[in-house]
Amino acid sequence: ASFETAGLHPAMLNNVKLAGYETPTPIQRYCLPAIKMGYDVVAVAQTGSGKTAAYLIPILNQLMGKAKKLAATRPNPAAFREGVDQAVRAEPLVVIVCPSRELAVQVFTEARKFCYRTMLRPCVIYGGGPSSEQRAQLQKGCDVLIASPGRLIDFMDDTRLLTLRRVRYMVLDEADEMLHDDWKGDFDTIMSGGGELLPIQRGNVRYMLFSATFPKQFRDLAKNHLAETHVRLR
Ligand code: AMP
Repeated sequence: ASFETAGLHPAMLNNVKLAGYETPTPIQRYCLPAIKMGYDVVAVAQTGSGKTAAYLIPILNQLMGKAKKLAATRPNPAAFREGVDQAVRAEPLVVIVCPSRELAVQVFTEARKFCYRTMLRPCVIYGGGPSSEQRAQLQKGCDVLIASPGRLIDFMDDTRLLTLRRVRYMVLDEADEMLHDDWKGDFDTIMSGGGELLPIQRGNVRYMLFSATFPKQFRDLAKNHLAETHVRLR
C-alpha cells in the first residue's frame, strides 16, 4: 500500500510528493480504493489521522482525468466581466461541508496543494465576515467548494451565484458536529437537497461522511441518507 501503486494521476502523485507525504496513513489506505471504486464512505477518523487527504486525494484524482473537459464546460468568467448577458455562477463538482471556519480554511489549504497544476480550482466560503470577496472568488469559477453550512445555504439561495447541479462528491467533514441542535436543520437541508438546492440526480453523487465519533444517532443518519446509494459501513 503506497501512493505509487494507488493508481494516481501523475500530477496528483507529484502533488502528494510535494506535500511531503511518503506513505498513506491507515484511513488513506482505506479511502483511496473505496472512493476509486465509487463507494459512498463513512469513516471514523480523528484530526491528525490524515482524514482530509484521505478524501481529497482520491476525489480530486477521479476528477483530474476529466479536468480539461470539465474546465471547458464551466461558466466563462470573461463573459461575466464584459457584461455579456450570461449569468456566471459557480458549478462545483465537489462540495466539502465543514462545521467551522477554522476547519474550512484548513481543508482549503490542503485542497490547494492537491489542485496545484491541475485545472481544478478550489474556493472556500464561510460566515462571520463580509461575503463580497467570497462571491467574487466563486464567480471566477469553482470546482471544489469548501463551505461552512450556513454560508453554503445562504449562497445556494442565489441560483445566479451557485448551483449544485454538477456536484458529484459531497463530503461532510466532522459530520458528528453537525448533529448538534444548532446545525441539525442545516444538515437536513443539505442532505435532503431541500428540493431546489441539490437538483442533482442523487444516484450520481457520492457521499462521504467523516466523523471523529460514531454515536448511534450518527449511524442511523448515515444509514437513512446513504441507504439508496452504495454505503459501506465498516
Ligand atoms: P488531518 O487528519 O487531515 O487533519 O491531517 C493531519 C496532518 O497530517 C496534516 O498536517 C496533514 O498535512 C498531514 N498528513 C496527512 N496525510 C499524511 C501522510 N500520508 N503523510 C504525512 N503527513 C500526512
